[in-house]
Parts: sequence; structure tokens; C-alpha cells
Amino acid sequence: MEKKREERESATVTTAVFGSKEMLQSAPVDKIPEKSTTAEIAYRIVQDETYAQTQPRLNLATFVTTYMDEYATKLMNDAIDINYIDETEYPRVAVMCAKCINIIANLWNTPEKNKWKTGALGIGSSEACMLGGVAAWQRWKNRRIKEGKPYDKPNFVISSGYQVVWEKFAQLWQIEMRTVPLTTEKLSLCPEDAIAMCDENTICVVPIQGVTWTGLNDDVEALDAALDKYNSKTGYDIPIHIDAASGGFILPFLYPEKKWDFRLKWVLSISTSGHKYGLVYPGLGWVVWKDKKYLPDTMSFSVNYLGAEISQVGLNFSRPAAQILGQYYQFIRLGFEGYKAIHSSCMEIAKYLHSQIGKMQPFRNYSTEVHNPLFIWEMKPEHAKNCKWTLYDLQDKLKQNGWMVPAYTMPANIESTVVMRIVVRQGFSRDMADQLLTDIAAAVADLEKLQYPTPTRIAADNKMKVKSTIFTHTGKGK
Ligand SMILES: *Cc1c(COP(=O)(O)O)cnc(C)c1O
Repeated sequence: MEKKREERESATVTTAVFGSKEMLQSAPVDKIPEKSTTAEIAYRIVQDETYAQTQPRLNLATFVTTYMDEYATKLMNDAIDINYIDETEYPRVAVMCAKCINIIANLWNTPEKNKWKTGALGIGSSEACMLGGVAAWQRWKNRRIKEGKPYDKPNFVISSGYQVVWEKFAQLWQIEMRTVPLTTEKLSLCPEDAIAMCDENTICVVPIQGVTWTGLNDDVEALDAALDKYNSKTGYDIPIHIDAASGGFILPFLYPEKKWDFRLKWVLSISTSGHKYGLVYPGLGWVVWKDKKYLPDTMSFSVNYLGAEISQVGLNFSRPAAQILGQYYQFIRLGFEGYKAIHSSCMEIAKYLHSQIGKMQPFRNYSTEVHNPLFIWEMKPEHAKNCKWTLYDLQDKLKQNGWMVPAYTMPANIESTVVMRIVVRQGFSRDMADQLLTDIAAAVADLEKLQYPTPTRIAADNKMKVKSTIFTHTGKGK
């Protein structure tokens, strides 16, 4: 006779996983379980909880790496027990990190002559942006102190297409964020509008390379020229920090001639995500300064740790070292040619999808050009008027085939525009693109047959009314 649930014993080494008591219980939510269980059962419970999620490579919402080769994966897994901060114990990792900073600084045409270029790693672009922003703030503050001027009202200027990290930066350090609105005519940061928002309290202007909302690049060269004029007229020295979360690893390989980096006069720091087009699994970010003199001393902390004096720049202390090995491996394995080939392929596939989706009757692309391997499109207004579905319904439909293609509303001023976005990354082939296009076409054909507004349509309309943001819901901005 079968034992009742209460009588059944806790797992032992011989218990079959699905014959155990644990598998008849809900997984812990509030309290740590009283007793231990076997590794096999614990593994099953945790693994199965993630079972229903999207396959990471079908997640076209994220910018973050979802494919690395087996050797990279092995290197990173083998280094999973290494804490980056233990520089005395793992000195080679610290050196490897410095080599990565050198390589990135040179990709961005640093003029710095020191053997070891000035930079820092972070857990992602968020930490890297914070460090770049804080350095700009400290430099401004130190200068204001020297001049005997007040330094209690710092601000920075950025387009309304900013990623959420800049809102955090503004809030956490209490620095006013001045946003230049994106409009249907001005699809990226307008240099003149940015300058118009600057004053003596501006710590920096932040152009973005690879705007998360649109995939476009702000024109840093034009901004630099406008800022140069403004600075010489006013006597200020407002610098530029570039948020190049995705662009930092795309521009050097695909558009080496384009001047967006340290070749420009007022660009003093640049940040990027190693885990986006740097092709490393999360979390890894980098920030580089044009020269050591632009990194305020107040940001380097000398710590006597485990028997050595180390100098550290960063918000975190302990952090995994595996990503550094992953980044250095990718540099060696791929070389300039390899990065160029991968990113070119992503661009080709993105352009192909862009043109095919642009040809689909209900849609039009937001921008005619594709600068980075991502783009957004919207429903033609005349189509939206007469059909019973929205891009949110299409997002739901595509999810049934395993795809994650996010729909979201645009930032302030153009927030009534609902768009859909595809980010093409390494691991997304032309064949997968064709499968996706087939699924989109089939989903659209199904949705066109709808006779009444769908529940998601109603929900979406309501959401727009309260201007609630779809931002976090869709994973947008990752
Ligand atoms: C992704 C992104 C960030 C945040 O980067 P993380 O690496 O996720 O911390 C910041 N800015 C832009 C423009 C981004 O695309």
C-alpha cells in the first residue's frame, strides 16, 4: 500500500527524486527548511523552478551575452571560486584585468602614455557609469573649491533616452539630471539643446552610444565641437562622459574611422558593458579615463588587505573574477578580426530583419538606418486605428513560440508611441531570423482575424492612460 504523505520519510541517498516527500511540498518561500535534503533533490527543485522560462538565446529583449563557446565557458566555470579583490592571492588576475583595461583604452584611442592605462572594472555599465559620473562630479567640485565658489548644486545633461542607471546616479548622489527631450524629429541628443541646458554647475554631458530605447547613437563629434565653442566662450570646462554600454564594443570594430572616443577633446571618460557586445557572460563593465589626471585621488582607496597595499577604484569590493578571464579569452580568441566578423554578422541580420519587418503591412520602422545591431518599429497609425490588436498582443503571441520580443512605450514626450524592439546578438543566425519572421507573419495573420478588443489591448490602453511604464516589465533597458 502506498504511504501517506505524512508517513513518507525525508529524502535519503536511496530515495528516488520524484518519490521523495520534498517533491510533494511547495518550495520554501519564507523560512529556511528545518532539515537538509539530498543534493539531487535540491538541484531538481531549483532547476525546475526556472524550467518554464525563455531560452536565453530566444530572448531578443536583452543586450547581454547569452552565448560563449565551450572553452570560454570552461575557463569561467573553473574560475568560479576566485574573488577578484584578493589581488595578493591571485595577482595574475589583477594583471589580466589591467591588460583588459589597456586593450579597451587603446580600442578607444586613448592618448595616455602610462604603461597601465587608467580605468576600472565594474559589475556592469551601471557601476562603470556611476564611477565616470562620480569622477566628473569630484573634478568639478575640486575646481569649484579652488575657485572659492559654491558646489552644492551640481547637474548633468543627458537625452531623455537615458538608461535607468542615470536616474539612479542622480538620486543616489543628489545630482540634478537635466534631460534633453527626444522628439519625433530629434531622434537622438541634439547638441544645441544640450548646450542650452549647461551652466557653471554642469559636471558633464552624457551622450549615449547605442541608446537602449532606439538603437541609435548620439553624435559625440558634433557635441564635442559645440561644447568646445561653449567652453571657450564661458571659460567653463564641461567635459563629456560617454555611456557606450553597447556602442563601446561595436564602434571600434565596425566604424573605426568614426570619431566618437578619446580622439575628441572633451571626452574624458567612457564606460561600456563587457557583458554586452564585449561578448562575456554577466556581470562585467569597464570605465576608462583619458588620463590618470582625470581620475580624482579621492576615488582611489588604498586598502591593506590580506597582507598587501592595494589601490582600488569601484563601488564593490568582493566580486567574481571569472568575467575577467572570459574577457581576456575573447580578446585572444577572436582578435580584432573576430569581433568585427561577429558584429558584422549581427548587423547584417539586424538589417535583414529591419527591412523585412519594414515591409510587413501593419508596421513601419522608427528609423530608416540601423547603426547598431538593434532596431525598433511601430504600428502604422492608420493600421492601429482599424485593427483590434497592439504590439503587446504580438509580444504575447510570440512568447507562445518561445520568443521574447518586447513591446514598450517610448520616453517622455513621445510616450504615446508603442514600439517593439529586437536586439541581435552573437548566437542569432539568419535561419533563426527567418523562423522569427515566419512566426511574426503567422501571429499577425491570427491577430488580424480578431473580432473584438483583446484583454491585453484593453489593459494596454489603460496602461497608456496612466502613463505607467512598461520598462521593467519587459526587461527593456537591460
Ligand atoms: C545596458 C545599459 C546600461 C546599464 O548597463 P549594465 O551593464 O546592465 O549595468 C547603461 N546604459 C546603457 C546605454 C545601456 O544600454
